Amino acid sequence: MSEMKYVFGPVPSRRLGISLGISPIPKKTCNYSCVYCQLGRTNPLTNKRTMFFPIDDIISEFEQIQKSKIKYDVITIVGEGEPTLYLGLGELIYAIKERTQIPIAVITNGALLYDVEVRNALYSADIVLPTIDAYNQNTLKEINRPHGSIDFDKVKEGMIEFSKNYKGQLWIETMLIDGMNDSLDFLNKYKKFLKNFKYERLYINTPVRPPAEEFVRPIDSEKMKKAVDILEGISIDLLESEGFHSEIKDHYKAILSIIKRHPMNQFEIEEFLKLRGCENIDELLCRLGKDDNIIVLSYKGYNTYRIK
Ligand code: SF4
Repeated sequence: MSEMKYVFGPVPSRRLGISLGISPIPKKTCNYSCVYCQLGRTNPLTNKRTMFFPIDDIISEFEQIQKSKIKYDVITIVGEGEPTLYLGLGELIYAIKERTQIPIAVITNGALLYDVEVRNALYSADIVLPTIDAYNQNTLKEINRPHGSIDFDKVKEGMIEFSKNYKGQLWIETMLIDGMNDSLDFLNKYKKFLKNFKYERLYINTPVRPPAEEFVRPIDSEKMKKAVDILEGISIDLLESEGFHSEIKDHYKAILSIIKRHPMNQFEIEEFLKLRGCENIDELLCRLGKDDNIIVLSYKGYNTYRIK
């Protein structure tokens, strides 16, 4: 199979099972620059929807995967940035739907739901997972640092409108950061704010991968329990548990192809290599550490690897 530019995985997703990823967005292109973003600081910060890549190119990669008979539970449209900025999103979902019955999920920051075209595109997805970390303009600015053309009321109205009409599964995610949005007062106000929406699930997360800003800290398990109780949500476990997958035979190249899209921590890499029967795991980790194209980030007592 030739090297893929838009389609990656399948990778295990804590919420979705085995997920085939499709990224229609150039790296780090987003309308938010969240303090916890695992891609680092957003660049460029833009709110202009653009046809970044031809739909046909993306679909032709997807068709190659279909021919290969690789198994996955869900197709997830997820950018290395914000996928709703892709102007062809609606058409892309339609083109995938024409080729498979496998459910389509879209992971988004939800900001552009105020745009009727984005809402219309997302109505045809089976699962939409928007992130909402803030309940007012101040916290939105502090945590998500949106593009200047986005304000909190617009985002809220868009979410209300979408959640009212959407027939699929709406799973909201919130990222709780120590000292930023984890106080009792915050959680109670946030809970009230959530009553504006009709949704099926609320996932509560905390940054487990190295964040864009060094001051960002995850909440501890006590606080997580409290947040789960108050918000009636589901906590996402700290580490991914299932194995990653790659068709590439060479172990090193296989890791590179995954971390290009999805950072992996040292435990995930070890597990991945063990399952492939690799015998020189330490050697490969050492090689990753010395590779100029890779950033090794030490966070929470272990290393995470991602492509620069
Ligand atoms: S919305 Fe997602 S991609 Fe954009 S800055 Fe926030 S975490 Fe990163």
